Amino acid sequence: MDGPRVTDLYRLLPEEMDALVADLGERHYRADQLLHALYHGFPAVLDEVSVLPAAFRARLAAAGYTVDTPAEVRRQTSADGQTAKLLLRLIDGTLVESVLMQYDGGEGRHPRSTVCVSTQAGCAMGCVFCATGQMGFARNLRAEEIVAQVVSAARLLRGRGEHVTNVVFMGMGEPLANYAETIRAVRLLTHPRAFGLAQRAVTVSTVGVVRAIDRLAQEGLQLGLAISLHAPDNALRQRLVPTAGPHSVAELIAAAKRYGATTGRRVTFEYALIAGVNDGENQARALAALLRGQGAHVNLIPVNPTAGGYRRPPRARVLAFERVLRQGGVNVTVRVEKGTEIAAACGQLRTDATRAVPSAEQAAGERATAGQHRLAEHHAEADGDRRAEVEPGVHVAANHR
Ligand code: SAH
Ligand code: SF4
Repeated sequence: MDGPRVTDLYRLLPEEMDALVADLGERHYRADQLLHALYHGFPAVLDEVSVLPAAFRARLAAAGYTVDTPAEVRRQTSADGQTAKLLLRLIDGTLVESVLMQYDGGEGRHPRSTVCVSTQAGCAMGCVFCATGQMGFARNLRAEEIVAQVVSAARLLRGRGEHVTNVVFMGMGEPLANYAETIRAVRLLTHPRAFGLAQRAVTVSTVGVVRAIDRLAQEGLQLGLAISLHAPDNALRQRLVPTAGPHSVAELIAAAKRYGATTGRRVTFEYALIAGVNDGENQARALAALLRGQGAHVNLIPVNPTAGGYRRPPRARVLAFERVLRQGGVNVTVRVEKGTEIAAACGQLRTDATRAVPSAEQAAGERATAGQHRLAEHHAEADGDRRAEVEPGVHVAANHR
């Protein structure tokens, strides 16, 4: 990947913004003005930051600083209006999706508005039931491209008088395989002078990169961690997650313990339930035996059907699996499905993106991620169930490179 010739101001941590402002010979408060404008005003282009004198904006631009807001090329909203899937086109044409999930607090209020972000275009981990995994890997996203997904959702919410309360790194890609950019994005999202979320309101989900989990524990961040386990034994796990090592299950449970001990945050194990593959009561008992007495939490996710023929188990089987775990002394929840009919559940993003966007976008998508088209063809969602709200690019940066 070519390095950017210009630097997006959304990339800079507040301390870096201070240094930039000092370098340009401006007073310190200009950094605060700039940060406030970025994280409260959500400008689409640098020229919208009208709180800064035009001469300073011109100097920033001349020094190679920009605001490159991705274009929103498509938005789909679920029938209940609580889930929105945003398709964003990054500066090089790469398409990424993020999902905004809201939870009803009654009287039309949403006490929780969670954004699920992507960290890579595609993913190299190859999980057999995951649409992104079947696309293959295109490229890592930069921190500012991860932050931009949250800012896009925040902009949308602002129109309704609401704001982002939580961020989960559960979209396309493996966050811990793009470690430095993921951590930079987390710092931007949680810095009180930047986006300002509580660290505890951010959760990183990983397929289980053990060394990176240990590194994450040492960052001094209070992040939630979710580990995608999916199997109670190594043989089955390796079938579902082909890049998993031969000793993965025990290693992951040990890494989760260390993370919990260092950060004080409880780790969640995600388990995508697949009919006839990992949903048996014996498997539930084996999982309970592994996790008993560790204060672990298991989140069961009935799998979203994708290419490859993996199906979710019948409801009764999901509940039976849950019951066995609970009786085995393990905390367990079944993930509330959100946005299933718009294929907007986390972990199943952009699978049908190239089918419905205009042809220019389609071409960009094809360049961006080899193989996604194959997925689009196989995608199992029925068009009739979907209520699409197509909104052409609302925020297009004027200063494309
Ligand atoms: N790469 C990270 C984060 C992105 S995937 C990880 O694997 O954890 C986020 C979650 O979605 C993971 O738990 C993943 O297993 C799950 N997921 C992927 N495909 C899915 C599908 N088809 N149905 C349900 N969950 C899925
Ligand atoms: Fe990658 Fe996560 Fe999908 Fe596995 S489940 S292929 S790690 S995005």
